[in-house]
Amino acid sequence: MSLIQLIYMFVIAIWARVREKYFSRERILRLRDKKLRSIIKYAYKNSPLYRRLYQNIDLEKAKITDLPVVNKELILKHLQDSLTKRGITRDEIILFAHDPDSVGKYFKGKYVLSTTSGTTGVIGYFIMSQWQWIVQKGVEFARLLKHRLSLPYIYKYTVKTKLRWAMIVASEGHYITYLLARLTPKQAFYLSDIRIFSITKPMNKLVEELNEFNPHYVHSYPTFLEALAYEKLAGRLKIEVDFMSSGSEPFSTSAREVIKRAFKGVEVVETYGTTEAICLANQCKYQKMHINEDYVLIEAVDEDNRPVPDGVASKKVLITNFINKLQPLIRYELRDSVIINRNYRCECGSPFAIIEVQGRSDDTFYLMTKEGHFRAFPPIPFEALFLRIKGLKQFQLIHEEQNHLLVRYISQDPKENERIEREIKERFDEFFKNTDVYDNITITIEESGEITRPPTHQKVRQIFSRVKPPPNII
Ligand SMILES: [Zn+2]
Repeated sequence: MSLIQLIYMFVIAIWARVREKYFSRERILRLRDKKLRSIIKYAYKNSPLYRRLYQNIDLEKAKITDLPVVNKELILKHLQDSLTKRGITRDEIILFAHDPDSVGKYFKGKYVLSTTSGTTGVIGYFIMSQWQWIVQKGVEFARLLKHRLSLPYIYKYTVKTKLRWAMIVASEGHYITYLLARLTPKQAFYLSDIRIFSITKPMNKLVEELNEFNPHYVHSYPTFLEALAYEKLAGRLKIEVDFMSSGSEPFSTSAREVIKRAFKGVEVVETYGTTEAICLANQCKYQKMHINEDYVLIEAVDEDNRPVPDGVASKKVLITNFINKLQPLIRYELRDSVIINRNYRCECGSPFAIIEVQGRSDDTFYLMTKEGHFRAFPPIPFEALFLRIKGLKQFQLIHEEQNHLLVRYISQDPKENERIEREIKERFDEFFKNTDVYDNITITIEESGEITRPPTHQKVRQIFSRVKPPPNII
């Protein structure tokens, strides 16, 4: 990436900050509607999939609710047609996505390709152009650090001391958070020291590396930050952190409490983003999550895609991302339950509506060493292990009984089952080998006919525990 792209990223970031600070709500909504119309027309004109979907709709008169809903399965089925550019084939996308050597590189030298298992366990592929990627990064930067982009603060972390930023993420695949840290204009590294740490590393090794790096900022997943807080309370992790941010899952009350206890005075902010749209919402210092309405439309809907009123928990959300014009996602379904409040005027002064995201339901596993000590294993590293396996359609990991794990999976082609099971076994073996529970756990792997969503949950519970957490894990 070039210096021009870095400058462009900062311009986008400044604009994003100015809008949030000075624009009225009415002005934001006008801007949002303009961008919405523009992406709909663009998709209709350039993407064969949307052209088919909208063929009988008068786009001049149509309301957003008149447009059909799309989802991951549909986009996957028509992957090539979902794009607004020709000359990118499905096979090229899949080949690149499953090539371990391509991780952290640009697809075809100019696109950013990311994969997700998301919340249904079906792996999705999403691509955008480099310039759209820069916009996304600029917006995320401005909205993540919204209260910190002041001159004294910038002075402190550029002139006085170089900001050390630890991104503790899944780094063995095309995961969006990893790419955010990795695919950065190289000039940015003169201003700050951004280092990537892999969550699949054994905890003791990671703690050692973090102690050495001694970061000011840490970004990771809430369940992982919680596990780090336990390490800090146990005296093994010695870093003093100023700012923590998290993504991919909402915080549980217990995680927030233990983090505050372990890292005194730390500011913790949550982000709501997905691979499909990174910049959905960011928390302010009053702990309210504000929707980035100048870059995304979020509709809270019931099971039949009808809008639910403000203050009511939705069954799903439909997102429209204004940034990605290469692969438009318009009214794209996510199985998140959210509560939106458009009329709440937050003390921070933001014109954006606020959103509460109901918890994703993956669990942290507490596994025991032979000596009887408990170790926390957050869910995301496990998810990362599965995402590397080709031909896997869906998976579920269950902590059945203390230290006994059950893997259930569905493959794309049953002929591949033997290889898939071998790979799952190898990945888990590799992962646990360097931990001190290695000689104390058992794993069963079985092919499953169907993995369904329990009636009480919005989502398939992909990684969950039937074992109660111990009262005190240290
Ligand atoms: Zn606020």
